[in-house]
Amino acid sequence: MDKIKQDLMKEVADLIKQGGVVAFTGAGISVESGIPPFRGAKGLWSKYNPEEYAYIETFLRNPEKVWIMLREMYRCFSEAKPNLAHLVLAEFETKGYLEAVITQNIDSLHQKAGSKKVIELHGSGDRLVCLDCKKEYPFIEEYLKLTPYPKCERCNKPLKPAIVFFGEPLPEKALSQAFELVKSCKVLIVIGTSGVVYPAAYLPYEAKRSGAKIIEINPEESAYTNSITDYFFKEKAGEFFKNLSFFYN
Ligand code: NAD
Ligand code: ZN
Repeated sequence: MDKIKQDLMKEVADLIKQGGVVAFTGAGISVESGIPPFRGAKGLWSKYNPEEYAYIETFLRNPEKVWIMLREMYRCFSEAKPNLAHLVLAEFETKGYLEAVITQNIDSLHQKAGSKKVIELHGSGDRLVCLDCKKEYPFIEEYLKLTPYPKCERCNKPLKPAIVFFGEPLPEKALSQAFELVKSCKVLIVIGTSGVVYPAAYLPYEAKRSGAKIIEINPEESAYTNSITDYFFKEKAGEFFKNLSFFYN
């Protein structure tokens, strides 16, 4: 690491230690856990075009088709373990630096890493819901064996993971909690999000407007990099947190 990078890392570490930090995470933070993001050459989403499979209309019209994709998604999630980035964020919470993680992910890896306050903007795969009677079912592997898809025991309608499909509104409470958090935080760490999926993508702009410093980690530039980011680390999340650890111990 060169001197300039070292100084920058130290500045960021000191900033985080002052507390009032919120993290905003996207698909990129889970890439090193083996879960591919939407945009990119490899993986699940190049096989199943999310523009087609992740629409609520498609699910309503053809749940069987969408469940073929969902089964594979769940298998991918069940093999994935939290990586260093998830773990360090959980540790920051324990140390009292971090207020909450706001995530667009649906893979539960922040919780698996030990984070307690996790705001899930796009819902979660950890439960299934009946769109008819709204009954919820905790996700269990057995559901993946049911053909053509798991059904509600009350009304026999197809169950849908409690994840936000395109065309569905975001959970209201999560969204309002997220806006409250970014308005009052001192530092927002933005990790692995391209910043193009709205309304979630508004959050960093709102943080900046309210006076927060924006730290961004992404191997590629995002919509935020040249507009609101104060400290940009053009690298993988795992690499960033590995380097950062030298300034904590
Ligand atoms: P995105 O696919 O639009 O962008 C991912 C970003 O991560 C890109 O900017 C990419 O450069 C960056 N990235 C890639 N590897 C990285 C790494 N190792 N470290 C840090 N950054 C890395 O993802 P998005 O902006 O989160 O939005 C897409 C939508 O897809 C979200 O709604 C999300 O719910 C959903 N999604 C979730 C998962 C998951 O739960 N793990 C996976 C795929 C998609
Ligand atoms: Zn039902």
